[in-house]
Amino acid sequence: MSKNRKEVTLLKNDDFLSANKFTGGENKDLSAWLNKANKKELADLLGYYCREATGEEKAELAQLARELGAKHYGSKIFFRGLIEFSSYCRNDCFYCGLRRSNSKAKRYRLTPAEILECCQKGYEMGFRTFVLQSGEDAYYTDDRLCGLISKIKELFPDCAVTLSIGERSYDSYKSLFEAGADRYLLRHETANEYHYSQLHPPELSLKNRLKCLYNLKEIGFQVGAGFMVDSPDQTFETLAEDFIFLRELQPHMIGIGPFIPHHETRFANYYQPTSSRTLVLLSLLRIMLPKTLLPATTALGTVDPLGRQKGLQAGANVLMLNLTPLKHRSDYSLYDNKLCTGWGAAENLTELAQHLKSLGFTPDFSRGDYIDFQEGE
Ligand code: SF4
Repeated sequence: MSKNRKEVTLLKNDDFLSANKFTGGENKDLSAWLNKANKKELADLLGYYCREATGEEKAELAQLARELGAKHYGSKIFFRGLIEFSSYCRNDCFYCGLRRSNSKAKRYRLTPAEILECCQKGYEMGFRTFVLQSGEDAYYTDDRLCGLISKIKELFPDCAVTLSIGERSYDSYKSLFEAGADRYLLRHETANEYHYSQLHPPELSLKNRLKCLYNLKEIGFQVGAGFMVDSPDQTFETLAEDFIFLRELQPHMIGIGPFIPHHETRFANYYQPTSSRTLVLLSLLRIMLPKTLLPATTALGTVDPLGRQKGLQAGANVLMLNLTPLKHRSDYSLYDNKLCTGWGAAENLTELAQHLKSLGFTPDFSRGDYIDFQEGE
């Protein structure tokens, strides 16, 4: 672990911790508590579970998370086919391998026809959600995207389309929604202004990021927010602010994964990431917002060979598998060594589904909407 790694020192509140240990046992109340705790209380709890909790306590937390999630989704695990369709990006986020100033990044852009081919392949494999992800690529105007989305919905009417293409105007989001897009992923990355400014250049603002998320929700998308775990300058206080923001936004999906440095960024030597805090935070997020669709992310599988499996056991219930043409898969390099085989590859769907069954999960090949968006609910 590098010396750059920052930790906050927390004052230990014995009363609080014993109360927490009590609720952590038979815990019927932790969910309600997480939904009303203030920043200091949340920071203490997060610090405790991330740094001091025993393996047994974390296992209890994971069990509670799974039980609460199962009330809404049973033991189902939902699959998404991920199509990374453009590695061009106009932005310069300090942590990202695709940032515009990284002249060594390999840039590619799939044509709409190539994207449709990916959908066809994914459909035959069994996917009923396609996640279209890219950098903020000006080539993909509203017109081009709307045409593409309409075509996907026409060819695959029983599938959901999720977009993950960054910040756009209200009108742009509205057109995409009207063209048929169902969901939108836009990680907020951090709900703290100072922390945001340490990860992004001045032209990007937390204010606009959050506004985009509220706009997406107002328009009617199923919305996903999220953040990197252990990112530079993250503290338990900033994490507490993330929890408070998420409980205010009430997103339908939350994507979190360990921060993994990219060698062509200022954070190249930041520190060696692990899965442990992400697993604890997945459990706590599931407990706070039990209906949320929670992916065991690619980043989790990248830092730990068993990371995605552990993520599901900690309370996650979604797996995104990569459908991008193989020749481009390693070029969508947000961070180093990104997992694109094994638990990351769409080609392994059948094998993975079998493995999930052996772990007691139920692989689900429906669209896998947020529970309140499911027909008949
Ligand atoms: S994080 Fe997203 S918006 Fe930022 S540089 Fe990378 S691809 Fe672009």
